[in-house]
Amino acid sequence: MTRLIDTYNRSIDYLRISITDRCNLRCVYCMPLEGIQLAEHDNILRYEEFLRIVRICAAHGVKRIRLTGGEPLIRKGVVDFIRNIAGIKGIDDLSLTTNGVLLEEYARELKHGGLNRVNVSLDSLKKDRFKQITRADNLENVLRGLDEAERAGLSPVKVNIVTIKGFNDDEILDFALMTKKKPYHIRYIEYMPFDVGVGWQRDKCITTTEIKGIIERHQELIPLGDHEKRTGPARRYRFSDGIGEIGFISPVSDHFCGSCNRLRLTADGKLRTCLFSDDEIDVRSALRGGFSDKEIENILFNAVRKKPERHYINDNVFKKCSRTMSLIGG
Ligand code: SAM
Ligand code: SF4
Repeated sequence: MTRLIDTYNRSIDYLRISITDRCNLRCVYCMPLEGIQLAEHDNILRYEEFLRIVRICAAHGVKRIRLTGGEPLIRKGVVDFIRNIAGIKGIDDLSLTTNGVLLEEYARELKHGGLNRVNVSLDSLKKDRFKQITRADNLENVLRGLDEAERAGLSPVKVNIVTIKGFNDDEILDFALMTKKKPYHIRYIEYMPFDVGVGWQRDKCITTTEIKGIIERHQELIPLGDHEKRTGPARRYRFSDGIGEIGFISPVSDHFCGSCNRLRLTADGKLRTCLFSDDEIDVRSALRGGFSDKEIENILFNAVRKKPERHYINDNVFKKCSRTMSLIGG
């Protein structure tokens, strides 16, 4: 098998697929109230087109697939799609990122379909603030979704929090304390710059060091995993009396590009080798233009060869990315 290895010797074994650019929420840091310019329906890849790409990737060493969006659970047929991915030889980790609104309804079916685990995005445990952030009144649904995911055996259940200064930083400790009662993996994610008219400002970004400091003022954090080797994006910890874990993802203050093993496929069929690089490689035209698997493979290998060494969002210019996370697939 020829593996997907880039020019910096990083082996690419993880594909994130945004299966839709549509969403049932309007998080203030991700989308303006009126939504964003959506792709024409016909330009969104069909499930069989995604599956063809997954098969080709799996034949070249991709083992991990994450489905995201937009909101993946609003696309019809997602469970069958998951079942089909789970059946592809070589795929051994299948996960999904969701806002959790529909998770209570879907958790069991997803698990039976072959999904291994979920990441649920939740930025506030306060009803009013949740509503202010997402512009919808769904906190209870998301909390029930988390419970149901745990009961269904989607494990681990990860909870992603985007921490924003003056917005939800007073809840940092509350989220960490959840790990004493629940086996959740709490993940604090630094607020990243996307240029989509939602007013990102550098001084609203709280760094991992600050977040960790807030938690450690309350209780010591015990490191987990190998911090030096940097095997994944999160630096992981736990409380001595915790049953879950606490992790920090620092794309802004301490990028993990050196160990980046990811490739992204947007809902409209563009490959992105870096979340923050606006260079996209069109695979939709190839899929629909009668290209053979071999030809698509070549597109894939060329894309991987061009994967940039790192992102530049925290350099002097603080470069913003021109597509929002909901289009790229966070
Ligand atoms: N709708 C699903 C959800 O919210 O989980 C999946 C797509 S959403 C784009 C994926 C993740 O991107 C969410 O955890 C969201 O909080 C995160 N996200 C969106 N904009 C972000 C930003 N500017 N900085 C950091 N994370 C962001
Ligand atoms: Fe939708 Fe997720 Fe963006 Fe919120 S973060 S608007 S749930 S895509």
